[in-house]
Amino acid sequence: MSNVIELQGISKIYKTGYEDIIALKDIDLTIRNGEFVAIMGASGSGKSTLMHILGLLDKPSSGKYILDHKDVSRLSASNQAVIRNQQIGFVFQQFNLLPRTSVLNNVLLPTIYGKTRDNLARATQIIEEVGLSDRIKHKSNQLSGGQIQRVAIARALIMEPAVILADEPTGNLDSKRSQEIMELFRKINKKGKTIILITHEESVAHYADRIIRLRDGEIILPEELSA
Ligand code: ADP
Ligand code: MG
Repeated sequence: MSNVIELQGISKIYKTGYEDIIALKDIDLTIRNGEFVAIMGASGSGKSTLMHILGLLDKPSSGKYILDHKDVSRLSASNQAVIRNQQIGFVFQQFNLLPRTSVLNNVLLPTIYGKTRDNLARATQIIEEVGLSDRIKHKSNQLSGGQIQRVAIARALIMEPAVILADEPTGNLDSKRSQEIMELFRKINKKGKTIILITHEESVAHYADRIIRLRDGEIILPEELSA
């Protein structure tokens, strides 16, 4: 299997007025195409920073990032935005759908040409995959939390990205709803999509094939875990 993501010596230093905060220290990480990976770690361990770098929402202070065989470490902000739109689907903890807008239109949002025949066909199919065919015309404010997260997942899939990044996607859901969303991620992964999910809940992380643990901005190696 080929590698979809390779991080080599990635560090991130936030420069605040009075001190530098080292959020990530020399991270090496390889993720293969089709893997389902969970990233875990205490609050402040660098999970969101890593996610922002992986998602081309922020740049590392040093190191190299290869996404789908292309070095994306030093792209301009506008080129980053293009790659981000084509290659990465995001699902966040907070439900960031357009309010008073239909499920269908929320899912179509990332597409450039909107309601083309192809886009409509793909959106309809993805909405069915996430189990919301009977809600396709509902407005986002007429949906439950679990349903809203399904729309967010459908929207993340519409551009057929190489990778889905999910930051605490079950953080606002009860345990039943969390399980359902995790089952959905598994189903999407089984169809071949690479998924990287951040969570602080072991029960959520166990849906992934591999767990990567962060501590103080560093990946904890397996031999250190048992120590
Ligand atoms: P996590 O998501 O695991 O809780 P973060 O990646 O959000 O961790 O944060 C890692 C560290 O970097 C923390 O010490 C945090 O306070 C700091 N940090 C995060 N974002 C910023 C920022 N924009 N400016 C300064 N420090 C930040
Ligand atoms: Mg975070």
